[in-house]
Amino acid sequence: MGNNRYKILVVEDEANIRSFVSAVLETNGYQVLTAGTCSQGELVAASHCPDLIILDLGLPDQDGLELIRRVRLSSLVPVIVLSARSGEKDKVAALDAGANDYVTKPFGTEELMARVRAAIRNSRHGPEKEGRFVTGDMEIDYDKRRISIGGEEIRLTQTEYNIVAFLSEHPGKVLTYAAIIKAVWGDAGQGCVKRLQVNMANIRKKFGVKPGRGRYILNELGVGYRMQEEHE
Ligand code: CA
Repeated sequence: MGNNRYKILVVEDEANIRSFVSAVLETNGYQVLTAGTCSQGELVAASHCPDLIILDLGLPDQDGLELIRRVRLSSLVPVIVLSARSGEKDKVAALDAGANDYVTKPFGTEELMARVRAAIRNSRHGPEKEGRFVTGDMEIDYDKRRISIGGEEIRLTQTEYNIVAFLSEHPGKVLTYAAIIKAVWGDAGQGCVKRLQVNMANIRKKFGVKPGRGRYILNELGVGYRMQEEHE
């Protein structure tokens, strides 16, 4: 797979590290964008939609964690933290904020490249799954784009299916309205929460016709939706 189509944003205030990481990435065929501050990184991430962000935590204007939180409001782009902070607490804080991986400085370039490939690969294919997702008596067959409950097919529109499939790729995780909209409608859909809610109402109607079937998709009021991992 050619790497050239992958854009990586490097947010790092130390110029020598920034240019070193950029050079390594470019040598490996990636397109590189750079930023030296948290706010600049946020701007570049919003305007260029990178495939991956490599992020330093000690930035001059704000903590890098803040950038992760802001990016996560609207995007599932993988974030690899590259930091001198090596404590477990720091790692947990970064992962809890939404980082996908954590590499401590000093780092080996081979290791960093391996983490970059893994992060991009995971973001392309989603979590490991066998072409199927099952929660309770609901089953999604990704190959056939078919959803059934208790063995009975539920007829969904393409859009409704795409919403459910996207939620199922992140079971148990709250996905914000913005993240779902971006995944289903792309950038063009931005801000159309109403359209998502209308589709979701139809999905629930189709899922909920018989009593005792469970709810499958939970509404996190004002935030987004979450696919249940199992019947709770
Ligand atoms: Ca720094």
